[in-house]
Amino acid sequence: MMGEVAPSVGIDLVVLAERDDDPATSVAAEVIVGAGTDPAALRAIASCVEVVTLDHELVDRATLSTLAAAGHRIAPSAGALAFASDKAWQRHHFALAGLPVPRVAIIEREEQIESFLATLASPPVVKTPTGGYDGRGVLFPDTFEAARSVIVELLAHGPVLVEEHLDLIGEVALLLVVGRDDSRVLYPVVDTIQRDGMCSETRHPTVLPLLLVREAEDLAHRIADLVEPVGVMAVEFFWTKTGLLINEIALRPHNTGHWTIEGCATSQFENHLRAVAGLPLGPTDAPRASVMVNIVGGPEPLRPAPSGHGDVVYHDYRKAWRPGRKLGHVTVIGDDVTAASVQAWEMAVALGAATRRES
Ligand code: ADP
Repeated sequence: MMGEVAPSVGIDLVVLAERDDDPATSVAAEVIVGAGTDPAALRAIASCVEVVTLDHELVDRATLSTLAAAGHRIAPSAGALAFASDKAWQRHHFALAGLPVPRVAIIEREEQIESFLATLASPPVVKTPTGGYDGRGVLFPDTFEAARSVIVELLAHGPVLVEEHLDLIGEVALLLVVGRDDSRVLYPVVDTIQRDGMCSETRHPTVLPLLLVREAEDLAHRIADLVEPVGVMAVEFFWTKTGLLINEIALRPHNTGHWTIEGCATSQFENHLRAVAGLPLGPTDAPRASVMVNIVGGPEPLRPAPSGHGDVVYHDYRKAWRPGRKLGHVTVIGDDVTAASVQAWEMAVALGAATRRES
């Protein structure tokens, strides 16, 4: 989706893709085949571009550091990426900085388990600190006994993040874009509906009270002061009866910002490219209601998009169908968020998506 806007920003994209039929290759000026975890592939792409940026976290940060030290421009930096790619690092450093996060323990040895579990009223949420996304690596054991055994199992592979299971009123997210010169633009807070650990829908405008919207914005700025990102920083929040807690950040265009393509004066993809290229950031006004629904593969391949849905925009990622895989998204812009949501879900159903709806 960055590739779709790159020409209008005057940027040529060289894409590092794991396969030469990766959807991103169709919008690239040049393609290098290789993985972000491969130092040689990272060196190859850095040697032929003015700036390296990322659209996922599964990259070799040590190589990015070395490349930066050798004079290559990496945005966001490897230091900033440590926050986005390691939930334990993020929780620990956010808590040290006085930012509100859930109560958490980073367990490294079995002996540490009981003392933390003893402080909880209900079984915890158990997470792997790295490598998880879309709910992979997030477990919700039903009992303390099940929690103990899953923590012990995961400890074989490294530290385990164990945190209080919050009673959520809802979840919200926002994007802050940071330029190379620390110029900043905020996008509106959106409601995010999560099912099975995956975002199924985003809604603008949010139902979050204005005071908490201002708090979310303030927290995003404080996070950026600490993390020093360049480009889009997405912040996901838990909304509880005691206020907002930070769930996690991502330092790239994010699923909770896909609605900005049609919903905002400048999309998150354009502003990410502008930020990393050192160009002025675009305005983020979003005057109308906007709903985005993810299209997740079900047991059968998707049906073709029905025609005649003027207000509904379907983005097909042209990825191979697989049950449970995000294959696209639908955005509806309208005057009323509830009506927009109904229309977006009608399209999701017509396509045969297995996206789980709010119950
Ligand atoms: P991922 O990194 O895979 O997106 P998250 O850590 O954001 O995973 O968790 C996915 C979802 O699981 C969250 O959006 C939320 O709905 C639920 N969740 C995660 N942690 C907690 C928690 N401590 N309490 C309650 N729900 C949680």
